[in-house]
Amino acid sequence: MNNRYSRQRLFKPIGDEGQRKLEKAAVAVIGCGALGSAIAETLARAGVGHLHLVDRDVVEPSNLQRQQLFHERHAEEAVPKVAAAAQRLREIRSDMQLSLYMDHADGIVIEQLASKCDLLMDAADNFETRFLINDAAYKYNRPWIYGACAGGAGAVFPFVPGTSACLSCLLPALPSFNDTCDTAGIIGPAAQTTAALQCAEALKWLTGNGQALMKKVHHFDLWSNTRLDIGIGRIKRTDCPTCGERPSYPALSTTSQMKCTLLCGRDTVQIIPDRQRIVALDAVEQAERLADAIVRRTPYFLELQIGEHRIILFENGRVLIHGLKDVHQGRKLYRQLFG
Ligand SMILES: [Zn+2]
Repeated sequence: MNNRYSRQRLFKPIGDEGQRKLEKAAVAVIGCGALGSAIAETLARAGVGHLHLVDRDVVEPSNLQRQQLFHERHAEEAVPKVAAAAQRLREIRSDMQLSLYMDHADGIVIEQLASKCDLLMDAADNFETRFLINDAAYKYNRPWIYGACAGGAGAVFPFVPGTSACLSCLLPALPSFNDTCDTAGIIGPAAQTTAALQCAEALKWLTGNGQALMKKVHHFDLWSNTRLDIGIGRIKRTDCPTCGERPSYPALSTTSQMKCTLLCGRDTVQIIPDRQRIVALDAVEQAERLADAIVRRTPYFLELQIGEHRIILFENGRVLIHGLKDVHQGRKLYRQLFG
């Protein structure tokens, strides 16, 4: 495979030296949906040495329309996205290091990634996670590449600590992405274009071509054929809690106590127990009262049916309760089952 990267090395701004830099690079891909799949595949093919993939979900049939690393069997068997992605990525390239985190990307996980990786790729589907990435990136002095898409549109920007305003500074100036894939739908090309633009920025940074990075927030709409570049030079705030003179990293400072959230558009409540008090799968197996409720056991999770609720219990204690529209009900049911 000596000539594996020959076409990329021929590209002058990268060359042999840039290729060697890619081989030494570690990149975190936060989210393994449409953006994460496309980003991970592109960076793997480009020769990035070590990829860290984080995602909390399993593959579902509605993902297959755009999440390019997954196929029908992954959806039928409800394989966690990081495991399914890893299978495919190892087929594409066997000499890459892969670290997998089948977990909710909370402050603890994202800080860990920021401390180990050269670059963070935003493939999240919500702004809560992006603020965590933003805080962790500025705290550890790592660049991160924002990417968001919905419908037929997307937006991209590389945030580099020390040179650009951060997400908190410029949120008021960003195109509104209140719509999500669950509410506005999405076409595959919008995700692929967003991911492709993010990867171009990643290649620039990782190969030592930081001067070529985008200077403006790039927004595109493939359906209305519009492009917009938004200058943000004057937006940086000196009192910004993330990139200002006295940073407090507010997103990271939230507590690690049990967290209960309603997942957008899915009638599902997610519960992440306090990290000090993890309910392991073994403990659940011992609980005789739950044994009858187990409907499926995979290498990754237990699926339980309790009354009208389908409950997925992951090895690290994270729980998804389907068929709920209300966080309080979720918390109550969780306490009944797991104490
Ligand atoms: Zn800022």
